[in-house]
Amino acid sequence: MKIDSIEAVIVDVPTRRPIQMSITTVQRQSYVIVRVFSEGLVGTGEGGSVGGPVWSSECAETIKIIVDQYLAPHLLGTDAFNISSALQTMSRAVTGNASAKAAVEMALLDLKARALNVSISEILGGRLRSSIPITWTLASGDTQRDIDSAVEMIESRRHNRFKVKLGFRSPTEDLIHMEALSNSLGSKAYLRVDVNQAWDEQVASVYIPELESLGVELVEQPVARDNPHALRRLSHNNRVAIMADESLSTLASAFDLARDRSVDVFSLKLCNMGGISATQKVAAIAEASGIASYGGTMLDSTIGTSVALQLYSTVQSLPFGCELIGPFVLADTLSHESLEIRDYELQVPSGIGHGMTLDDDKMRQYARVS
Ligand SMILES: [Mg+2]
Repeated sequence: MKIDSIEAVIVDVPTRRPIQMSITTVQRQSYVIVRVFSEGLVGTGEGGSVGGPVWSSECAETIKIIVDQYLAPHLLGTDAFNISSALQTMSRAVTGNASAKAAVEMALLDLKARALNVSISEILGGRLRSSIPITWTLASGDTQRDIDSAVEMIESRRHNRFKVKLGFRSPTEDLIHMEALSNSLGSKAYLRVDVNQAWDEQVASVYIPELESLGVELVEQPVARDNPHALRRLSHNNRVAIMADESLSTLASAFDLARDRSVDVFSLKLCNMGGISATQKVAAIAEASGIASYGGTMLDSTIGTSVALQLYSTVQSLPFGCELIGPFVLADTLSHESLEIRDYELQVPSGIGHGMTLDDDKMRQYARVS
């Protein structure tokens, strides 16, 4: 089967509420939906970045240009089923641009799975789990509102794992915020924090032990992405698990972090690492070095989230679960199907491909008109 055409469309989907991070506030998410067509079949993938180029070096606009002008021309007419060859072609044609390549690879794998009438996880070797514990992000910026929403989610058996975004207030204010959350939620909740690089090593070495004493079990990216040595010292000096997120992108960065055992956990993100195959390799590096994997998100829509679920369902060590909350922070969905959370766990879709089909009306509604 030959690739007949590749289409990349930017969509802007509003979020239900603003999401406050140390680096930006997200009020809408932009995605590039990539469709690969081959002999009457279509596969769908998605590229994106949290809040545009502030988190990674890519944004929806660059992803679309790279797919349209620099990847698609090399792929048209080639074998739609030979994904290894497509990956090689893409890496020769374009340096970096992980999310653009990931979106194309997702679409190719979705197409192949649909042609074979199986799910993506079956192509990847088969799933080890049919649901994954999901962490909810508390980032309203208001302590009481965060507590109220956490209590409500625990009671409705929706979420009992919470990640709190730190770093947009002073460390002292952050600690007071965490203390209030810890006191109110007690043993009913698992608490994690994401500092999004906002601290330096000195501040981190003072405040991480304080967070640990409040029962926080995971500290994500406390310091700058290009400071792996600080991550290593912080991880060696503290019992609480330290997770790399922004510091982890290429295979080489995964290897460097693993070689020095600089962190305890890797946050996997398909769009950050360049796709499914690259993320599998990062998970293998983690496994070989005793580092746990974590199912990260770029606030993907149901399309990217379902692809990630297919992959995360096959990863050996996933002790902290996932944070695939993208579909639940969006005010609308781009697919006919939606994803389901039951008893604090996100269910892996059971259909063929990634399990979602695009809703053409929604695509028209949210497509950017330039
Ligand atoms: Mg993060």
